[in-house]
Amino acid sequence: MDQEASFYQFLEDQKVQCELCAHRCLIRPGRRGICHVRENQAGRLVSLNYGRLIAEHVDPIEKKPLYHFLPGSKAFSIAAPGCNLRCEWCQNWQISQAGAEVRFDRLPYVAPQAVVEDALRTGCRSIAYTYTEPTVFYEYTRDVARLAKSAGLKNIYVTNGYMTAEALIEITEWFDAANVDIKAFSPDVYRKMTGADLGPVLESCRALKKQGVWLEVTTLLVTGINDDRPQLEALADFISTELGTETPWHLSRYFPQYKSKAPMTSSRSLAMAEEIGRKKGLKFIYPGNVHASVETRCLSCDRVVLVRDDYELLENKLVEGCCPYCDSKIAGVFTGD
Ligand code: SF4
Repeated sequence: MDQEASFYQFLEDQKVQCELCAHRCLIRPGRRGICHVRENQAGRLVSLNYGRLIAEHVDPIEKKPLYHFLPGSKAFSIAAPGCNLRCEWCQNWQISQAGAEVRFDRLPYVAPQAVVEDALRTGCRSIAYTYTEPTVFYEYTRDVARLAKSAGLKNIYVTNGYMTAEALIEITEWFDAANVDIKAFSPDVYRKMTGADLGPVLESCRALKKQGVWLEVTTLLVTGINDDRPQLEALADFISTELGTETPWHLSRYFPQYKSKAPMTSSRSLAMAEEIGRKKGLKFIYPGNVHASVETRCLSCDRVVLVRDDYELLENKLVEGCCPYCDSKIAGVFTGD
């Protein structure tokens, strides 16, 4: 499929400027952007990975992770190859960093309608754009999401948040929930470890919140990179003061992957991050990749209302999104309408 890209400007000598993500690549004819999936073909920017899915799975929504959005439901999860960041610890690097090598025309083409039909057939309540970076297959996510919305499904972006403000506004027309991965909180560390800038990620979080998209934040704790007290305090402070104390913060354990030589995240490091988050006022902090029972408590009466284990929802006591003991509303989206 020869899918023209959205969000770009024509420049002189057939050059183009892509404005989908905050890299804003200037691309000469015959060349690709940093993500390797958008190509300047004689002055026309083309999305090479449109409909070229490299992963399709039915996942528990808790795996995204989203803990306050339709708990216990299934999310039809899809990915096309590519990413606009270069994290050395990427947990999905085989597909996220595949843009440069992959022959897109050899991947099967999946029409947007087929994704929606598969989601409905498998009993999913949402479609999640995940595993790689959905921003870099934006046009496809938009086309699937429009159809999904008409079919009564929710749409979920699992993203690094590195899109432009103009792209984000359009995305929020179709998307109901997002999990943004804030990978570090020092601009220098962020730039060095991902090849990108922290500022646009924070702007995206603010904008998603403002646009009413349900937002949860994830931080993969990588020893020696982003797990020092100053970064974690600043990150927790940002979530608490700018996104709200009831924004869930997922602290994920890292396992050695790809180019990074960091060891597995220690339990001590996870506990320190959680303690920092609590001191900054965050109400919902969840460990990830730890194989443990994870509870959500009502903020009013402190009774347990949700319990999960390894992405499986074990208990859901909520009644229409409220605590069954004291009737207080729990932050999140718990009914499907
Ligand atoms: S999506 Fe980002 S990385 Fe890819 S071409 Fe556009 S600006 Fe560059």
